[in-house]
Amino acid sequence: MGLFGGRKTVFVDADILVIGGGMAGCGATYESRYWGRDLKIVCVEKANIERSGAVAQGLYAINCYMGMQWGENQPEDHVRYARNDLMGLVREDLGYDIARHVDSTVHKFEEWGLPIMRDPKTGRYQREGKWQIMIHGESYKPIVAEAARKAATEIYNRIMVTHLLMDAGKANRVAGAVGFNVRTGDFHVFRAKAVIVSAGGASHIFKPRAVGEGMGRTWYAPWSSASAYALPIQVGAKMTQMENRIVLTRFKDGYGPVGAYFLHLKTYTQNGYGEEYESKWYDDTKALVGDYIDRHPVPTCLRNHAIIKEVAAGRGPIRMVTKEAFQDPHKETVGWENFLGMTIGQAVVWASQNIDPKQINPELTTSEPYVMGSHATCSGAWASGPEDYAPAEYQWGYNRMMTVDGLFGAGDTIGGTAHKFSSGSFTEGRIAAKAAVKYVMEKGRDQPQVSEKEVRDLQKTIYQPLENYRVGRNEITAGTVSPTYLLPIHGLQRLEKIMDEYVGGIGTNYMTNGVLLTRGLELLTMLKEDMAHMGAEDLHQLQRVWELHHRLLASESVTQHTLFREETRWPGYYYRGDHMKLDDTNWHCFTLSRYDRNTGEWAMEKAPVYHIID
Ligand SMILES: Cc1cc2nc3c(=O)[nH]c(=O)nc-3n(C[C@H](O)[C@H](O)[C@H](O)COP(=O)(O)OP(=O)(O)OC[C@H]3O[C@@H](n4cnc5c(N)ncnc54)[C@H](O)[C@@H]3O)c2cc1C
Repeated sequence: MGLFGGRKTVFVDADILVIGGGMAGCGATYESRYWGRDLKIVCVEKANIERSGAVAQGLYAINCYMGMQWGENQPEDHVRYARNDLMGLVREDLGYDIARHVDSTVHKFEEWGLPIMRDPKTGRYQREGKWQIMIHGESYKPIVAEAARKAATEIYNRIMVTHLLMDAGKANRVAGAVGFNVRTGDFHVFRAKAVIVSAGGASHIFKPRAVGEGMGRTWYAPWSSASAYALPIQVGAKMTQMENRIVLTRFKDGYGPVGAYFLHLKTYTQNGYGEEYESKWYDDTKALVGDYIDRHPVPTCLRNHAIIKEVAAGRGPIRMVTKEAFQDPHKETVGWENFLGMTIGQAVVWASQNIDPKQINPELTTSEPYVMGSHATCSGAWASGPEDYAPAEYQWGYNRMMTVDGLFGAGDTIGGTAHKFSSGSFTEGRIAAKAAVKYVMEKGRDQPQVSEKEVRDLQKTIYQPLENYRVGRNEITAGTVSPTYLLPIHGLQRLEKIMDEYVGGIGTNYMTNGVLLTRGLELLTMLKEDMAHMGAEDLHQLQRVWELHHRLLASESVTQHTLFREETRWPGYYYRGDHMKLDDTNWHCFTLSRYDRNTGEWAMEKAPVYHIID
């Protein structure tokens, strides 16, 4: 059958190509149609937008809602909150831009049929916390997907995008993307005038706590494979804050959410001996980060820090005190329902481990690190800000356009804007789409050109692992290990081990230093060399190979950024043992990187943090 196995090549032309139909991608697809009535809007998704991305299973709360109609919060308040949580470093222009529009997004969700709980006394949305509202969210994603489906010219499900295409006529301008159908194997070439990347964050770049047959049990969706970062990195887009990985405190083994427990059920934590422990670490933390420990609310990373230290001191495990709250039948119901809407697995884990939270206080744990730009961290692409609000230095064209012409991003993709969550990601998709439509309109007939040679070369590269396997398997004399190819699972485990041991994963209690990071980079480079020898038995494994490519490039970026920032800005997310303190004099700044795919070199620089809001 030859290298391409008789598979079809499908060419698709679009005005706007949205890569990834999760929350941000659905928002981008929906809004593109609003502003670009006659444009061809195409959304391409690795899974099926009906149930894809981090919200696939549903959610129990929308974590970003101002409540401006009731005067509950203003956008400025949210910027202050995110800035405080991120130890001072956020893109205030981008955060403000989302906060001022996010309420209208949530109102649309309700209009489209999402049941939002209401406070029976006030008639307002039921608050779980200052920013969170509670929903019956099992069908959250199908509801949002329906809006995108109706807006799109075409949705292509089951297509993994592997590479962006660049304009053959103009340097630094995007021209589309290529990928393959994970079911049929058909090769897809998307030619587009503007591209919006919204392909979610990254799990499985650090070794997870659950290994072997349990390795799919991570907090962040196991299918989030860093494409949001690798696709822009490959074409030289600048990235920011990639060192700012996230570590979550969650219920042990099931990673069930704790927000509703803390905020709504008013539960609290204790060490293994039933003692309060957070205050014990106050002086230690103050010595590291100064008055950031006195801020309210205490930044997420610093709360992790107290847990990590207490466990390392031999007084674990940390437990959530649920026994008191669960005596109230209403709270008990809320506690269980909290899992039904988004993490049923946690209830199953408790059942299997004989844990009834009414009788036993369940254990908490800190997760392995993940990379994502929409939760309580802000890794991602460096993007141009809103015209009416961003400082001049943060503006080079269209809102949410990266440093590559015509390439936009939203959700986990865009850096510097933490605490967007599901509603903020959808909102950012809308913002990016509006700007992308403007870009397409203003470019008029000035269209990017796709090089046929580039496409053919990429096609060969993409399917090569199938050929490596077909040839290499003949050399196996016993078992499954080939002398000439690596299977994706082997590559993934090697990547996770390197990141865990050298870049501050669970194996080192989140500790790293310059020496470890430098060695980590050497080992990542060796893995990169071996990637030419990946073997794929079938299309499923071919997808895994390309996910690994994306995870590897994102990991390299995380390592470069962690090496560059010579301080410990977020204790509890990771520690630089050689620079244990927060250093506002030298590092109250963003870190930026740019990858050169021709040389494999990374250029690092600092960018100023502008505090626009007092
Ligand atoms: C465990 C967990 C709990 C959360 N809880 C809450 C909560 O309670 N409330 C809240 O508001 N938010 C919550 N969030 C945050 C929210 O889910 C994210 O902020 C939001 O989903 C980010 O949107 P996104 O579009 O960037 O990514 P996603 O929604 O993950 O979408 C990314 C999409 O890209 C697709 N994709 C990936 N790679 C490719 C590729 N190469 N080619 C084509 N398609 C690709 C994926 O399949 C996916 O559909 C939670 C997140 C997690 C992980």
